[in-house]
Amino acid sequence: MEIANKVFIVTGGASGLGAGTVRMLVQNGAKVVIADVQDEPGEALAKELGQRYVHCDVTQEADGKNAVAAAKELGALFGLVNCAGVAPAAKIVGKNGAHPLDLFQKVVSINLIGSFNMMRLAAEAMSANTPESTGERGVMINTASVAAFDGQIGQAAYAASKAGVAGMTLPIARDLAKTGIRCMTIAPGIFGTPMIFGMPQEVQDSLAASIPFPARLGRPEDYAKLVHSIITNDMLNGETIRLDGAIRMPP
Ligand code: NAD
Repeated sequence: MEIANKVFIVTGGASGLGAGTVRMLVQNGAKVVIADVQDEPGEALAKELGQRYVHCDVTQEADGKNAVAAAKELGALFGLVNCAGVAPAAKIVGKNGAHPLDLFQKVVSINLIGSFNMMRLAAEAMSANTPESTGERGVMINTASVAAFDGQIGQAAYAASKAGVAGMTLPIARDLAKTGIRCMTIAPGIFGTPMIFGMPQEVQDSLAASIPFPARLGRPEDYAKLVHSIITNDMLNGETIRLDGAIRMPP
């Protein structure tokens, strides 16, 4: 499976793992729609790489349709990489009382329902592809987290949303198998991105120390390499793959 000349949408493509994925895809000759809500860095990256930026809140059906329409202008949509996500922490009972319900709903809305929204719209567009035009109809890659399996204190909403992402991957892959569209999820451990750089340094240090090998934070390039492998290996379908350096979180 060649990446060159294939059309991809990368949500959350303005930053972190999404931006690393955009760079990898473009280096391999793909055409990419960067879909994000951070317009300034999104536009800047698109300009640097000669690609297209679309303001797209993944929770909004109309925004998702706009991103798919922008991709179709570049050719047959072949791939979706869902990197958009948020990770606010809150204890079940904190200083200000019970875990805010609206925070839980927001996290699930962006991380889980937003990923699903983009998948269903991308799958609809990809279903129209013919194997003759694209080699296969396409591939969709979600981003969960090791929190889906090993959530820490304060991660109830985040872990629930990411477990949902991992959980929907296999049934959707099975559903779409007859159409030739594959579906995978990557569950990253701890990666050096703005999501982590916002934490106090001592927290970042202890997170890095929890990765026995390669004993460093993950890098967007590490994530992008796995995206490349998934796209180019037809046998990978329906799985959630941990990408975490055998992380063991401190108690
Ligand atoms: P990041 O903050 O650098 O990037 C996330 C991007 O998502 C941002 O550009 C942001 O604008 C975008 N986004 C947020 N809400 C959106 C919305 N409603 N619609 C469209 N875009 C939206 O963080 P990152 O580390 O690159 O995270 C990428 C993904 O990887 C996330 O899903 C995150 O949960 C997951 N993840 C990250 C880590 C890590 O350690 N960095 C670990 C596990 C999982």
